[in-house]
Amino acid sequence: MKLRTRLILSFILIVLLPMGLAMTAFIVVNHSKANSGKMSPGQLYFSNTVDDLASYTDDDVRLLEEWARTFPENFLDSDIQKQSNEKLAEKNSYLVVRVGTKIVYDGAAKGMHPDYDSLPMYGKLVNGDVLIIKLQTESGILKEIDFGKEDGKRGQAFVITPAGSVVPGGEKIWLYYVLWLVVIMLITGVVISLVLYRSIIRKVRLMQAATDDIRQGNLENRIEAKGSDELSELAQSLERMRARLLSDATQKVADEDSNRKFLSSITHDLKTPLTSIIGYSEGILDGIASDPEKLRKYVSTIHSKAVDMNELLNELSEFSKLDLHEIPYHFEKINASEYFDEFAEVTEDELSSDNADFSYKNTLDADTEIIADPAQIKRVLHNLISNALKYSRDDAKLSVKFRVKDIGNFIQAEMEDNGKGISSEDVPHVFERLFRADKARNTGIRGSGIGLSIVKKIIEDHGGQIWVTSRLNEGSTFYFVLKKVSPDDNT
Ligand code: ADP
Repeated sequence: MKLRTRLILSFILIVLLPMGLAMTAFIVVNHSKANSGKMSPGQLYFSNTVDDLASYTDDDVRLLEEWARTFPENFLDSDIQKQSNEKLAEKNSYLVVRVGTKIVYDGAAKGMHPDYDSLPMYGKLVNGDVLIIKLQTESGILKEIDFGKEDGKRGQAFVITPAGSVVPGGEKIWLYYVLWLVVIMLITGVVISLVLYRSIIRKVRLMQAATDDIRQGNLENRIEAKGSDELSELAQSLERMRARLLSDATQKVADEDSNRKFLSSITHDLKTPLTSIIGYSEGILDGIASDPEKLRKYVSTIHSKAVDMNELLNELSEFSKLDLHEIPYHFEKINASEYFDEFAEVTEDELSSDNADFSYKNTLDADTEIIADPAQIKRVLHNLISNALKYSRDDAKLSVKFRVKDIGNFIQAEMEDNGKGISSEDVPHVFERLFRADKARNTGIRGSGIGLSIVKKIIEDHGGQIWVTSRLNEGSTFYFVLKKVSPDDNT
């Protein structure tokens, strides 16, 4: 769940839950009155129905009824009238006593007096019935207690409870309910905030630990973060960054390793001819090459070794220039079909003068275009041809088959020879700098082991790929692909 949605939900819960709980509390409390038949002032305050107001003075009415049966003269005693009225006043009610048609006592507060004419006749309200009557400023609930007088006159006591008034103690009840609401709100607020905090803090801690790990260079620990909220997405980005850093670091170690190997090979490849040069020149200086024939042999070896070194240094310098982007590419849109046709024509002549067979198959559409540096691609093709020549078998006439075809978004070129081939252990390494397959077998074949690494660099700088399949003593096929110009490209 998104953090935003979670926060909105929590807010709604924090607001609604306490309200719901408070409402439930009211309902439960009010229901309890049905069971007990009694109401607290607070309940009365909030319910304020006729029944509730009426039931509020039940106890007092029962006492008055008792008097009516046993001490009816109490109703005429002004002290008792006052006392009773004071008791009723606690419940915001008051007492009115009428004998015959004469009101002998009226305990109403100001503005609460009943309309005496609307008081019920003797015997009108029986069995606890109540009547709603008009008072001066509002309505009220009236209960009637009849009593007989000795001289035969009949009397009535009325207990009147103004309906719209505030039940005594109501203000306190408000405070009581507000306090309850605050407590409920506090509890739900704290609980919901805690739940939210825990769900957020877990991910924050996870990321904190992960960044600490990364800072200390420990890139192995995966950051596990499921979910689709913002924090999970952040943790997932962090995990992608960690994976990337790990892969970069691994690559860096591999590069450093390859650079070390490269340096050691280069030292070796330069040292070997140099040792020969020093040895032979010392031989000459020491007068070992006494006859002209020997001298010629010594000088020729020195020359040949110097040429080897020169070649190696030239290729190395070429490679480093490419690597450092010192040789700029001149990319242009070229017609692939025409380009390869031209190359094949020239190569066929060259190879036939080297006594080798050459076949060429081009299945590209005549208008297929690629974006390439024609000079650099030519360099690739020449290198492949010159390797085919260099590593041809002594026991078989060299045959080179060159094919170009369309493979969807790319064109694929294939250069197949029937030469010495490359062992399966060496195949993965032939594009590495200074790698020369099976050095013992290649003895006598001049080379630096740089050519194919230059070829690979050029193809990859064109956004293409190059690979080789080979069988020892049967031949090799070099493949490379270059991206075609699609109609959408507006270069
Ligand atoms: P070099 O030819 O200067 O040794 P390359 O980088 O061109 O360097 O080639 C690397 C190695 O790959 C060669 O030493 C050789 O062993 C092997 N190789 C390349 N092309 C061929 C081929 N057409 N047939 C057999 N082996 C090859």
